Amino acid sequence: MNIAQWLYQTALARPSAPAIKVGAASFCDYVRLARRAQALSRELAGRGLGQGDRVAIFTANCAEYLEMIHACWWIGATVVPINYKLHPREAAWILEDCTARIILTRAGEMADKGLLPQGCTEITIDSDDYRGAVAADAALKQPPSLPADAVAWLFYTSGTTGRPKGVMLSHGNLMAMSFAYAIDVDRIEAGDHSLYAAPMSHGAGLYALPYIRAGACHVIPESGGFDPAEIIALAGDPGGLCFFAAPTMIKRLVTAAKAVGYAGQGIKTITYGGGPMYAADIDEALALLGPRFIQIYGQGETPMTISVLPRDLVADESHPNWRARRASVGYAQAPVEVEIRAPDGGCLPPGKTGEIMVRGATVMLGYWNRPEATAETIVDGWLRTGDMGHMDVDGFLTLTDRSKDVIISGGTNIYPREVEEALLMHPAVHEVSVIGTPDPEWGENVVAFVVAASCATCDASTLDGWCRSQIAAFKRPKRYIFTDTLPKNSYGKVLKTELRDQLETGAIEAPPN
Ligand code: ATP
Repeated sequence: MNIAQWLYQTALARPSAPAIKVGAASFCDYVRLARRAQALSRELAGRGLGQGDRVAIFTANCAEYLEMIHACWWIGATVVPINYKLHPREAAWILEDCTARIILTRAGEMADKGLLPQGCTEITIDSDDYRGAVAADAALKQPPSLPADAVAWLFYTSGTTGRPKGVMLSHGNLMAMSFAYAIDVDRIEAGDHSLYAAPMSHGAGLYALPYIRAGACHVIPESGGFDPAEIIALAGDPGGLCFFAAPTMIKRLVTAAKAVGYAGQGIKTITYGGGPMYAADIDEALALLGPRFIQIYGQGETPMTISVLPRDLVADESHPNWRARRASVGYAQAPVEVEIRAPDGGCLPPGKTGEIMVRGATVMLGYWNRPEATAETIVDGWLRTGDMGHMDVDGFLTLTDRSKDVIISGGTNIYPREVEEALLMHPAVHEVSVIGTPDPEWGENVVAFVVAASCATCDASTLDGWCRSQIAAFKRPKRYIFTDTLPKNSYGKVLKTELRDQLETGAIEAPPN
């Protein structure tokens, strides 16, 4: 098994099909993409790299990203994608942790800053040196067959709940994930244009795999990331856009679409997930952009494949239970089983909230060099997701919150997401994040960080009155902190640890109500 086999096969089957565009401009076709990947793989092999060696990639989304990933797999090496928004010092920590021998970059940023750990060499992709071997007629050599559990992707968690850990995903994991996506989640066609609006170093790089198998075209935004205006322009030409977007990105796209009267034409599919999509936001997105949305629930440890809420169910308003279904994350995807467990490990019946556990073909092998963390997270073959949720009798799964974010006040569990949903329904609230802070009397207190909608005035007593009308009194925030922005990771997910730190270090003083 080798996940690079798909690029090899597509290069043989559809050699001149467009493989990569930057914006609307062609970059290369499939045979050229495969030859470029093979040329880089020879460069890596020439430096003594082979099966199981770690090769880090530290760049923003770029035309060469897929070539770099496949070059590593072509020699059986493990890809270590590093979020390019990390400080080079943080990247150096990852290089040391995984003992990577090579780091691929665009601008030589690690060596220039003297940050390369011993034994690690930097290859600057822009240098083009290694591409001497990309002759027009270079024959393609089939990628080597590897054991299904060979590590393909060593992905460092973003650390929203602690220090990053290297998640080991095998070729078998990625193949199961890609089949599930291509068969169960969306109907991928050769004419699709898969756009990389989210960082390819995160799950978006993996999202490419089923599109490579189908021979679809990959579009790298000229902006290198998520620019709603560029997406709207690309939807006009080339059209057929499919992309993954975190909820905050969809919110920005909706705002931009409203401003120019755009209604979603040219977008085939927006797959969303990675964080809670609030009811008000998906309702607005559907009303404006139409039934183009699919929700997936996954995490680095089980990429893209815990559950799916398919397009029809996201949009369906005919079922008596449609509101609850739209608020859910759908049902378990085919490669996995999902259970809800009580703290004592017992299985919970429908309707009861507990920790979401997952078992199956897409669950990671474990954490790199962290046997204790692996043993705490994978118990008897079941992955502890750290997410709390409940399932209905039909198997629809609803996430309540991450277990680490649940607030326990006066001995009662308060799920921040429920409070956030309530506050977001107030027209003066643009964004919100709710956390717990230590309280000597109650254990924890509920604190809301609020970004007000532009031109709106909103104060603590107005929001407190609103919450009284929406949720139980004990769930109401005791404090409101108004801010211009919320700290987010490269995916647009709010960094609650940073909000807690800001309060703990006194960087922000919570005013009394
Ligand atoms: P870390 O693991 O370091 O804390 P992280 O939170 O960014 O980093 P990811 O693997 O990127 O980890 O995110 C996975 C988490 O995102 C899930 O466990 C879940 O809490 C949340 N999530 C993913 N998809 C959805 C979804 N569709 N709806 C709500 N939350 C989601």
